[in-house]
Amino acid sequence: MAGAGDERGPGPAAGGQQQRQRRLGACQVCPEQLAEGRPQQGLFSSFLSHNQKCQLMLLKTLETNPYVKLLLDAMKHSGCAVNKERHFSCEDCSGNVSGGFDASSCQIVLCQNNIRNQAHMNRVVTHELIHAFDHCRAHVNWFTNVRHLACSEVRAANLSGDCSLVNEIFRLHFGLKRHHQTCVRDRAILSILAVRNVSKEIAEKAVDEVFESCFNDHEPFGRIPHNQTYARYAHRDFQNRDRYYSNI
Ligand SMILES: [Zn+2]
Repeated sequence: MAGAGDERGPGPAAGGQQQRQRRLGACQVCPEQLAEGRPQQGLFSSFLSHNQKCQLMLLKTLETNPYVKLLLDAMKHSGCAVNKERHFSCEDCSGNVSGGFDASSCQIVLCQNNIRNQAHMNRVVTHELIHAFDHCRAHVNWFTNVRHLACSEVRAANLSGDCSLVNEIFRLHFGLKRHHQTCVRDRAILSILAVRNVSKEIAEKAVDEVFESCFNDHEPFGRIPHNQTYARYAHRDFQNRDRYYSNI
């Protein structure tokens, strides 16, 4: 795949002042409001650069978040072990983009100037790891087939907690029964429009064509993990599934 994203060594330059035009396979636009957590404040955090804060939050996410731990296990199980230094890059991004998956370099870009707190980092890493998981398990034509991109965006919005009730309440969209599905559809369309120069009609059509099958594809969670407790159960089940198959 063509792409402007070049290979990155461990740790970008402090502050990450250079903005790189990456061709992201998938992307997440900023939510309008924060669901939980607080912006980094206080004397200590004011001494840290955006890049250092990003690295610290990433480390905590990788070590403690159940969605992320499950995805990392699943990636490893599929032969795509993830390495913090190799596969993540904290960078400044233009606009209000929070992160993206750069398929050409197999890196997850974390937008250090736009990720505001730990909860936000958790969701961005989860969302982008779902794209990385899809990239690992299937031959995804990110740049030539908008339906492939649409499918992965539906899965990322559905499974990452982007549309969890608390996030939606903070966006002041109170839920009805089918609200989760509506949120997933809307966010998938927005994500496509953020990274592809296509019309809204084309994005909507692509999402609608793949929605049913991709919304019902819950791998590797086995369910929609509506909150961290569900994600912990899903992780436990995945580990047991792994153990079961390895004993056959
Ligand atoms: Zn995305």
